[in-house]
Amino acid sequence: MQHQGELDEFVRVIQKWLEQDVLPQVLEFEHADKYPTAMVEQMREFGLFGATIPEAYGGLGLSALAYSSIVETISKVWMSLTGVINSHLMMAELVRRYGTEEQRQEWLPRFASGELRGGLGLTEPDCGSDLQAIRTVAVRDGDRYVVSGTKLWITNGGKGNCLALLVKTDPEAQPRHAGMSLLIVLRSDGYEVSRQLGKIGYKGVDTVELHFDDVEVPANRLIGTVPGQGFHQTVGALELGRINVAARGVGLSTAALDASLQYSRTRHTMGKPIGQHQAIQLKLADMACRAASSRLLVQKAAEAFDAGQRCDLEAGMAKLVATEAALDNATDAMRIHGAYGYSTEGHIERYYRDAPLLCIGEGTNEIQRIIIARALLADG
Ligand SMILES: Cc1cc2nc3c(=O)[nH]c(=O)nc-3n(C[C@H](O)[C@H](O)[C@H](O)COP(=O)(O)OP(=O)(O)OC[C@H]3O[C@@H](n4cnc5c(N)ncnc54)[C@H](O)[C@@H]3O)c2cc1C
Repeated sequence: MQHQGELDEFVRVIQKWLEQDVLPQVLEFEHADKYPTAMVEQMREFGLFGATIPEAYGGLGLSALAYSSIVETISKVWMSLTGVINSHLMMAELVRRYGTEEQRQEWLPRFASGELRGGLGLTEPDCGSDLQAIRTVAVRDGDRYVVSGTKLWITNGGKGNCLALLVKTDPEAQPRHAGMSLLIVLRSDGYEVSRQLGKIGYKGVDTVELHFDDVEVPANRLIGTVPGQGFHQTVGALELGRINVAARGVGLSTAALDASLQYSRTRHTMGKPIGQHQAIQLKLADMACRAASSRLLVQKAAEAFDAGQRCDLEAGMAKLVATEAALDNATDAMRIHGAYGYSTEGHIERYYRDAPLLCIGEGTNEIQRIIIARALLADG
């Protein structure tokens, strides 16, 4: 989908679906923490499981810029839905970027159709930020790898049916990343969901612990041709993930702002709408600036990604600024709404619970600051 008119129409169709079919059900699904099966099926029918997969492999071939605007649009209504496609598309991006042509042809059409629903298996009980400390091992045995270990916090790990799994193929390697590889692992290979994880937000989408007990994976499922590239490959795909998370932040910030503007016009105290009090105006102005500046940074990062550049700096800045903005806007929206903001009958408290995840996932914001500073220092 390359033409702007076609893309605009596509976004309009998604917006209409969100307003008519998703919004009326969000509170029910959110509070029951229920997987939105019918909504996910509709996303599959829209082609969103192939959003960023090239058309040649059956996807929509959307640019990161177009994809980020769709993620923002969905997140304004229910951020959890974007979680269903984010790590799936990161897995597809890993195969697109680093896989062999044979692997692209074998896997990408199945990701694009939604037949295969992927996730990203990086984090473990003892490590998240320090990925080089993972302990899951894959031992080569003839024409297969035998995988053992535990992965934690894996989104789509239960409802999806495959994973890009980060493993140590050489646990003794120095530097540590030289012994890391990515494998395409299918649920039918035999890994187990050992635990569903409870969360304060990001409801509906599943996040689980996975256990690998001598799971046999064909050796031709190593992404690329040689082992030892997994860390480098993961860092590359995380750029797309960070743009997605930043776009979610823009969606959340904007939803919090829109609701606050609306409320500020209709809620009266001391004989006038609260929007006429300067204390509220200051908050609204800050919220609008945060949402608008975040959007610009997301656009800049997406454009760099689309130009085929490494964009650690741009994606890191977008992720850091947009997600902190989401947290601040969610907090300000709650203050502006008073007790109604605290109520589970409305949406504001959900923004307040969802926003912190954005500051943690796809590399914490502390790690983003380190990435940004390193990129700046390397540039001198
Ligand atoms: C709802 C949810 C869904 C998730 N989905 C996935 C998924 O699909 N796949 C997956 O692999 N993972 C997933 N994660 C895991 C997520 O990526 C990690 O939580 C994240 O990378 C941080 O790792 P950690 O929680 O182990 O924190 P740690 O790495 O233990 O960090 C703890 C604290 O120390 C700080 N810190 C760590 N190192 C440094 C440093 N060098 N300098 C300064 N500060 C530092 C961190 O910023 C943080 O504040 C998910 C997490 C959540 C909550």
